[in-house]
Amino acid sequence: MKVLKFGGTSVGSPKSIRSVMDIVRKAALDDRIVVVVSAFGGVTDQLIEAGRLAARRDEKYKEILAALEKRHLDTVRELIDIKGQSSVIARVKLFFNELGDILHGVFLVKELSLKTLDFVMSFGERISAFIVAEAFRNARLPVMLADATSVIKTDNKFGGAEVLDVTYRLIREHYRNAEGIVLYPGFIGSTSQDEITTLGRGGSDYTASLLAAALGASELQIWTDVDGVMTIDPRKVAKAFPIKRLSYAEAMEMSHFGAKVIYPPTIQPVFSKNIPVRIKNTFNPEAEGTLITRKSADTGTLIKGISSIDQIALCTLHGSGMIGVTGISKRLFTALANQGINVILISQASSEHSITFAIAPSDAEKARTAVEREFAYEIRHKHIEEVELENNKSIVAVVGENMKQTRGIAGKLFSTLGRNGINVAAIAQGSSELNISIVIENLELRKALGAIHDAFFLSETRDLHIFLIGTGTIGGALLSQLHTQAAQLTREHAIHIKLIGLANSRKMLLLENGVPLNSWSDMLQHHGAKADLKRFMEKMIALNLPNSVFVDCTADEKVAAFYSKVLGASISIVTPNKIACSGKFTTYSQLKELAHKKGVKFLYETNVGAGLPVISTLQDLLKSGDRVLKIEAILSGTLNYIFNTYSSEIPFSQAVRQAMEKGLSEPDPRIDLSGKDVARKILILAREVGAKLELSEVQSKGFLPRRCMQAKSVSAFLKELEQLDKAFEEQRVKLQQANQKLRYVATFEKGKATTGLHAYDASHPFYWIEGKDNIVLYYTERYAEQPLVIRGAGAGAEVTAAGVFADIIRVANL
Ligand code: ADP
Ligand code: ASP
Ligand code: MG
Repeated sequence: MKVLKFGGTSVGSPKSIRSVMDIVRKAALDDRIVVVVSAFGGVTDQLIEAGRLAARRDEKYKEILAALEKRHLDTVRELIDIKGQSSVIARVKLFFNELGDILHGVFLVKELSLKTLDFVMSFGERISAFIVAEAFRNARLPVMLADATSVIKTDNKFGGAEVLDVTYRLIREHYRNAEGIVLYPGFIGSTSQDEITTLGRGGSDYTASLLAAALGASELQIWTDVDGVMTIDPRKVAKAFPIKRLSYAEAMEMSHFGAKVIYPPTIQPVFSKNIPVRIKNTFNPEAEGTLITRKSADTGTLIKGISSIDQIALCTLHGSGMIGVTGISKRLFTALANQGINVILISQASSEHSITFAIAPSDAEKARTAVEREFAYEIRHKHIEEVELENNKSIVAVVGENMKQTRGIAGKLFSTLGRNGINVAAIAQGSSELNISIVIENLELRKALGAIHDAFFLSETRDLHIFLIGTGTIGGALLSQLHTQAAQLTREHAIHIKLIGLANSRKMLLLENGVPLNSWSDMLQHHGAKADLKRFMEKMIALNLPNSVFVDCTADEKVAAFYSKVLGASISIVTPNKIACSGKFTTYSQLKELAHKKGVKFLYETNVGAGLPVISTLQDLLKSGDRVLKIEAILSGTLNYIFNTYSSEIPFSQAVRQAMEKGLSEPDPRIDLSGKDVARKILILAREVGAKLELSEVQSKGFLPRRCMQAKSVSAFLKELEQLDKAFEEQRVKLQQANQKLRYVATFEKGKATTGLHAYDASHPFYWIEGKDNIVLYYTERYAEQPLVIRGAGAGAEVTAAGVFADIIRVANL
């Protein structure tokens, strides 16, 4: 025979009860069947609520009661033919009359004892079992409704009673005389005085397991609303998938640490009788489900699953008086046990200086009192400190029998957490080596679960969550590059790009499921809210997604001002915006330090030389132990274009106009011509080498007279510039005769950074730089004679966007 248990959602609606009947009918074709049902979905919670309201003298309990009655009667009307309805309806009404009387009593005495609450809750399963049995009968399924309270005998710990051994015999005796399908309400039992008890929330699973064990079932089937035990709670991580095989021990660990799909005590009875358990989905019966047996089967993954408990309290007992003293743990845990406090996790420092344990928050104060009473003497004499209590913590456990043989699981777990800036408050490994559990801040739970799940189950693909500000030329080019490359990145590099947030100066849009890369512009325009930088940042931080990257494609100071907040929230930054790195030295170094501390990246390769690998090459040289002696570079594509363009036909002022028209220069070309932009770039390179320089310390030589630079407007400036065309032409002719060219060059040597205009002949690489190219020469100990040369396009939206893209990928490959 088999035992089939159907949970709350499986019997939650007439439609789902019909599915239950189909499943049962099929199963009954080739075996004897015992069925266990829960209360209709959500009913237990509502009964508790009604009881609490009544005890508070709140008449609203009557509304709940009326709604419950209506729901049950509607179900009867849907499932049972008119002919048979009236007697069933009458019986259901009787149930509700009785329940109404009890709640009225609670209302009068203003008190809801655990015993009364158990009685109130029992109506959920009793009414559900009655209606389902009638529906079976109506559908010509031979059924016998059993009274669980007369066979499941318990002690009198109301709210979570312990089952007595006599239960097994009573179940067998009852079954001996039963015929057809026997249907039990789950969750309930009774004391030796026949007072109704419950087995703890989720306890219908346990009822089913007891029946299976007592009757020597060939299988226990738990029918629920998911495709089996999943790798992780599917409500918390959408990418969860069903685990095909688990051992009893693994299932027990998963449920102990919060996988609600099985109630923890369920495993023991079937385990002792070696009865296989199958978890199946009532709404998708074809799905294979999860099979739980004695032996663990290899599913090809390092771990089997991840569980979590959202809210726990962490208690720590510490003090020098604990070192080397035997019996402390025993006294501690006996004191807790005497109060009926369930300890979820224990972690002891190897110095024996402290013991940390996790308990339910509702037990926290009780635990503190019990422990402080037990150690009153030691606390008074300062051998032990007072109990430290921390709330708002969560537990995450990774579970699997493979852990025993496989090294590196802990390493993988902690590097994943570290990379996402998640602090671990306590760690424990069960002595069975079946799980590693960690305690973290509750606020970090979702992020941790997503990241750990990705790391252990989807290591082939890694989600990269992008928040992009600035949709101008660079941002726009980046978005189209991301769009073109997305599929290939997933295929070849296992990186899954998800654009979660997008903003420009007008609008912003944040979508947890991602903004489609092919229609970002429309989406932003039609669905975006009014841009609000602060809110954008707040939302991004609140989402707390793993592997988040903030991409700043603006040149805006206001955006850069948020960097420390962003890094502080363990979000990487990628940006072509030079403001942060060329601003105050302390800001620059604090940001780098913060990124390091949080284990995230702060990447700004495109601050210098657009997409050219100028900064990363420098960092690689330094990391590999080289020393930089000198940097010489042409870092302004704009200036280079101007110096390469002006000729006998094109006067200097005309070349400047052309650079403006082509969008190569800043709208006010003086920003380029003053050399300020170049000064910022060489400052950034100098800082990478370790120089503690400020921008004001870069010796920057302009080459245009003050009159020109201080002109009132851009057009006035261009007019002034025309006055200089003749002088520039004379200089050009002179240089041509000497076979030389003018270049605006930045240098860094012996701690000093300079920029200025110089002439070079054909023996120098700078002579040969064409168009708007950049070139950087690194003279180092290793490249002392011949410098390391990086050369190529140093401006333009496409190449800059490509550089930003490369940095984004670098974040993914952390
Ligand atoms: P039932 O009413 O059928 O007993 P429960 O609500 O008690 O169902 O348990 C099933 C629910 O458990 C699922 O809907 C799911 O949201 C939750 N759950 C939590 N962790 C897991 C997990 N690891 N695998 C499957 N379900 C899980
Ligand atoms: N109805 C009970 C509860 O909600 C028991 C169960 O569903 O297993 O806890
Ligand atoms: Mg359940």
